[in-house]
Amino acid sequence: MTIVVAIDGPAAAGKGTLARRVAADLDLAYLDTGLLYRATGFAVLAEGGDPSDAVMATKAAENLKPADLENEKLRYDEAAQAASKVAVIQPVRDELLDFQRRFAAQPPAGKKGAVLDGRDIGTVVCPDADVKLFVTASTEVRAQRRLKELQERGLESIYAQVLQDMKDRDARDSQRAAAPLKAADDAVILDTSDLDIEEVIGKAKSIISNKT
Ligand code: C5P
Repeated sequence: MTIVVAIDGPAAAGKGTLARRVAADLDLAYLDTGLLYRATGFAVLAEGGDPSDAVMATKAAENLKPADLENEKLRYDEAAQAASKVAVIQPVRDELLDFQRRFAAQPPAGKKGAVLDGRDIGTVVCPDADVKLFVTASTEVRAQRRLKELQERGLESIYAQVLQDMKDRDARDSQRAAAPLKAADDAVILDTSDLDIEEVIGKAKSIISNKT
């Protein structure tokens, strides 16, 4: 029996850092599912295409290779925006679903379970996950965190622009018909607006140990 922890939530809510730490501390495998969408969107951009083009995007998802996930450029906002455009296309989601489910059912490197983070893990990818967390924070707090992250990477950024990008991506992710961003009915909501990362990790670990 493997343990599956599903962590969903909007951009920059802290779910990536949380998921990575939970996986390391509990010796579970970790999959950042956003990377699959970023790599798909980025592949379309690299070919000079429009990430909203369903034919190109689906082909890019079909041709995705593990090495494509290593690209440094996937961390930038250009890839994030492209990701949220390919992510509304149902055939793209269908194409990426199998890989995610297999990772959860048979975690690599003999791990006894997996942590997956994304937007639809608790609702669509792993509806039977042992633990479901929905990590969120106010839009302003998330935009401030993203701004800090971009500045730390030496990228010149303006708060108003980062906030607008965040709102655009939230709207695309929550309003799409295909697997929209939302908390599963049985998810525990963790609002991280007023918590530091260690507090978030502590809360998450105690929820996980109560449920497994
Ligand atoms: O989590 P991250 O910011 O890397 O995700 C990039 C984009 O990929 C999201 O804005 C969303 O549109 C899409 N995504 C998704 N389903 C997931 C993970 C990411 O639709 N499970």
